[in-house]
Amino acid sequence: MNKETTLSNGLKITKAASSKINEVDFKNIDFGKIFTDHMFVCHYNNGKWQQPEIVPYGPIQLDPSARVFHYGQAVFEGMKAYKDNSGNTFLFRPDENFNRINKSSERLAMPAFPKEFFDTGLETLLDMDNEWIKPGMGNSLYIRPFVIATEASVMASEANSYTFYIICSPAQAYYEGEVDVLIADFFSRSASGGIGYAKAAGNYAAQFYPTNLAKEKGYDQIIWTDSSSHKYIEEAGTMNIFFRINDTLLTAPTSERILDGITRKSILDLANKEGFNVEVRNIEVTEIIKAAENGNLKEVFGAGTAAVVSVIKGIGFKDKHYKVPVLQDGYAQHFKKSLTNIQYNLAEDSFGWRVKV
Ligand SMILES: *Cc1c(COP(=O)(O)O)cnc(C)c1O
Repeated sequence: MNKETTLSNGLKITKAASSKINEVDFKNIDFGKIFTDHMFVCHYNNGKWQQPEIVPYGPIQLDPSARVFHYGQAVFEGMKAYKDNSGNTFLFRPDENFNRINKSSERLAMPAFPKEFFDTGLETLLDMDNEWIKPGMGNSLYIRPFVIATEASVMASEANSYTFYIICSPAQAYYEGEVDVLIADFFSRSASGGIGYAKAAGNYAAQFYPTNLAKEKGYDQIIWTDSSSHKYIEEAGTMNIFFRINDTLLTAPTSERILDGITRKSILDLANKEGFNVEVRNIEVTEIIKAAENGNLKEVFGAGTAAVVSVIKGIGFKDKHYKVPVLQDGYAQHFKKSLTNIQYNLAEDSFGWRVKV
């Protein structure tokens, strides 16, 4: 029997009849395939967000004409909860994710979600499914908030009804190993005036086909370049990208085409605080190729919530392959360690990024 209660904060709770947790092998988890016992749901209609709820995780029913299926009116976020060895649970800069999903929603003509619903919903969900968050470096709970247009109508305009969900998936270290990436000289992830800065579902759909072509050439991911000239480097797959040329750390400035990653800006803050030589500026493809040729390209890595830091070991450009050194103790490992130490409550958090829940 499901048990229903309404909390003093207005959140309605329906508990799962039983937990699936004993069926999960936490030592062998494929990223993003297993979900916890509960999910957060809040519907929007008649011009307002209705009573938020936590219900058992499970399939949802939508009209086949729901606009999300036809026009891709959908946005999402990716964040994580971490547990320290004393059993305390933490989020990392959750307000950044909250602000960004509303920024994405605005670009997709979707209504902003109220902060108090997000905060109480996420906190309660993490409390109810707390057993699913395992302590230990690399273990985490991947949190996926998302919003979809649910109105039943194929009319090509924004919907009048939406649903905001939060689902959670236990995760181990993601994207292990070093990767080879191919610099895009034809396809683009985003364009000026487009939706590249938003975490819009369609941005990902558009990446799959060019990424498959790159995989056929032996590459794992694509380095996206600017859509008009393909001369400037923007992102790596679904991550922001950093280069180390000699002792300078380089990354492109965020723009309407580049997603404002929380990992990226945290690395920049750490690097500046620790006195690294940091340059945030447009990066020419030819400059990176030249640095690779003359040995000044010391490291390349992607940065994002899922993998934290993903080391790049080779770059392809116009049928040529350039090897990138893989260091044991480079900038990539340094920033990964600094960030994860903060996330897992193993280091002082002078920026106030860690939020106990
Ligand atoms: C989510 C995302 C990132 C990384 O952002 P984080 O906040 O660091 O997880 C980078 N690029 C793209 C295109 C993304 O969608």
